[in-house]
Amino acid sequence: VSSFWCERAVIDGSVADGVTITEADGSIVSVEIGIRAAPDSMVLNGLTLPGLANGHSHAFHRALRGRTHADGGTFWTWREQMYRVATVLDPESYFELATAVFAEMVLAGYTVVGEFHYLHRQPDGSAYGNSTAMEDAVVAAAGRAGIRLTLLDTLYLAGGIDRELEPSQRRFSDGSIAEWVSRRDSVRFGETSRGGAAIHSARAVRPELFAAFRDASTGMPLHAHVSEQVAENDAALAAYGATPTALFARADLLGPHFTAVHATHLSDEDIHLLGASESLVCFCPTTERDLADGIGPSSALREAGALLTLGSDQNAVIDPFEELRGLEMDERLASGERGRFTPAQLLAAASANGYRSLGWQGGSIAVGSLCDLVTVGMSSPRTAGTAADQAWLAATSADVTAVVVNGEVRVQGGRHELGDVGALLADSIGKVNP
Ligand SMILES: [Zn+2]
Repeated sequence: VSSFWCERAVIDGSVADGVTITEADGSIVSVEIGIRAAPDSMVLNGLTLPGLANGHSHAFHRALRGRTHADGGTFWTWREQMYRVATVLDPESYFELATAVFAEMVLAGYTVVGEFHYLHRQPDGSAYGNSTAMEDAVVAAAGRAGIRLTLLDTLYLAGGIDRELEPSQRRFSDGSIAEWVSRRDSVRFGETSRGGAAIHSARAVRPELFAAFRDASTGMPLHAHVSEQVAENDAALAAYGATPTALFARADLLGPHFTAVHATHLSDEDIHLLGASESLVCFCPTTERDLADGIGPSSALREAGALLTLGSDQNAVIDPFEELRGLEMDERLASGERGRFTPAQLLAAASANGYRSLGWQGGSIAVGSLCDLVTVGMSSPRTAGTAADQAWLAATSADVTAVVVNGEVRVQGGRHELGDVGALLADSIGKVNP
């Protein structure tokens, strides 16, 4: 059992002073408000937030940051560059890269990540001798970096609607649903990691297989990329006469266990289907703007009943505050109105909703919640003078001073326990970006 004393902490969306949080076995067992620090408590000065969830990540895309802007291009030309990195990774180099990327996430204030993982096999498409070599690398990297992990093991079987896999896509496929299930269920997890299941997209898996995917994934968080690109909708409508959301709905995949990632280009019926089923929707604002995807209908989804979450996706930016701000600021630009989400709603999207999407009981400072905490300094050039109940609209990842995951301190004094995270990133990216 250990305890943390917070100068200020956000509880149920409002700010309390002098909060002692006691944990046992990684979970919060008591929260006391308005008291002084006990001598044996770790002191967290500043503003302590519940753990922040990165609902959607592809760790290896981090190797492309700051390397894709020279020639303009489109989502599809960016994807060609991404495939080149995907082709050179092996279990060892992926462990190093993912460790560095996850460490960057923890340093930025993320306490849990949903890693949407599809690098399953060797580059030529043959299985590794240890069939879970790449998955084991991701799980080990999360453990080393100290981040909680939901490994969203992704089913990826086709190169597009009615298209064979391209050579650079071969390692994404297990060959069949049965082989995907067999490998997926062989992955071993620890106390701070667990499995989930994903359909890459309605492009990469034929809709006839959605029901088999659902039946093989009972009780798991389910995720899918949905309508990130207009071309994806056009292809689905041409081939099946239905949008990707409608195809997922027909297979009975929607519901409180299902997260639609991006959901950028939705019809009114799509919004109704996701909202009425109480599905979750993961927006990735820094990626959606970087790839010129567009602005998704976040307010309309929330009003329809969907629960919003946030993710960093391609990791061109790793900053939970920038994502939650992006959700509101994109809505302001699209609607001409301010205050589309309250500060408390934005924090919930970044914390409790994300934990729920990833299958964990966390993201709030409350008894029974996982003891994952993020402390923000309130006297930095960015946060000085801000109101504590809106500070997350002003802070950046650079203002995170302490991070606790499962009751363990991973960042203290703005420093990750692994040391120089920039050096870890430079080394690991240097090995995979020729
Ligand atoms: Zn993605």
